[in-house]
Amino acid sequence: MPVEPPVTSPRDLAEAYASLAAAPARPIAGGTDLMVALTGEIGEPPDRILDLWRLDELRGIALDGDAISLGALTTYTEVRRSALCREHLPVLVEAAATIGAAQIQNRGTLGGNVANASPAGDTLPVFLAADAAFVLGSARGERTVPASEFWPAYRQTALAPDELLLRIRIPLLAGREMRFRKVGTRRAQSISKVVVALGWRDGSADEPLAPSAPWTDVRLALGSVAATPIRAKATEAALEGRPPTPETADRAAETLAAELQPIDDVRSTAEYRRLVAARVLHRLIREAGGW
Ligand SMILES: Cc1cc2nc3c(=O)[nH]c(=O)nc-3n(C[C@H](O)[C@H](O)[C@H](O)COP(=O)(O)OP(=O)(O)OC[C@H]3O[C@@H](n4cnc5c(N)ncnc54)[C@H](O)[C@@H]3O)c2cc1C
Repeated sequence: MPVEPPVTSPRDLAEAYASLAAAPARPIAGGTDLMVALTGEIGEPPDRILDLWRLDELRGIALDGDAISLGALTTYTEVRRSALCREHLPVLVEAAATIGAAQIQNRGTLGGNVANASPAGDTLPVFLAADAAFVLGSARGERTVPASEFWPAYRQTALAPDELLLRIRIPLLAGREMRFRKVGTRRAQSISKVVVALGWRDGSADEPLAPSAPWTDVRLALGSVAATPIRAKATEAALEGRPPTPETADRAAETLAAELQPIDDVRSTAEYRRLVAARVLHRLIREAGGW
């Protein structure tokens, strides 16, 4: 039988920082990823655990100037029920609805998904495409790391051992549209084979342009196709400044198929991922263009 590691449950952030500064410990939020690792069957189990669940400083969804701020302990159920998310970030509500099933959505957190750094983490491409920034904290102070720099390599993050992810900040840009699609073996409890998050701007929120208006600030992020979530920059360039017409969709899908170098693993072949990612992108553009 594996030995259970000792757990510390700080009541506030100052206590959590002091505990982490005194001795390294693995944070636990909802535990839906970490509990699976406790048996030691999939890698080294942690020696000590720091339970974040009582840290109210890591909770809450709020507007913060021209951004929306999501506490690291925000669960998927909270995202789905949040009026602010539904109004300002419906793409995250959509992504949250595809995660696990009700039990996982009640307990699993955004911070856990981000810090776990699985390339199949479903919210990661959304955060990349939305230009999210992660606010990290420790006894040394706070710092902000853009999503584009947060996952440098397979299952690695920008977090130092004594740092916690506090909150996620997503800029709310006028006229920004976002779409999300996850492809798995089934609709619930499925690990993604391909995840696509697409963002663009097509005018201001006050003056929305017709669906045929050219796209700017295009962001295309993919999950489950590489060692980390990635942006498809050549495909973004192929979409930039163009309206969502059939010709644009054909060109973008071709560019993506050529640009992607997907992984081959137990869940899918590289070829499947390439074809599906291109088809998903084509469909998202078609839906946005209304043709
Ligand atoms: C049955 C099942 C289905 C699942 N389905 C999906 C799915 O469809 N899509 C998907 O993306 N994931 C899925 N997962 C994985 C998991 O539920 C998510 O990744 C979830 O968001 C993890 O959050 P958590 O709070 O449970 O993280 P934990 O398990 O508590 O932590 C995960 C990792 O993050 C670290 N961590 C957590 N919070 C912080 C913080 N604030 N600061 C620093 N480090 C932190 C922990 O140390 C640990 O390394 C599934 C898991 C299970 C068991």
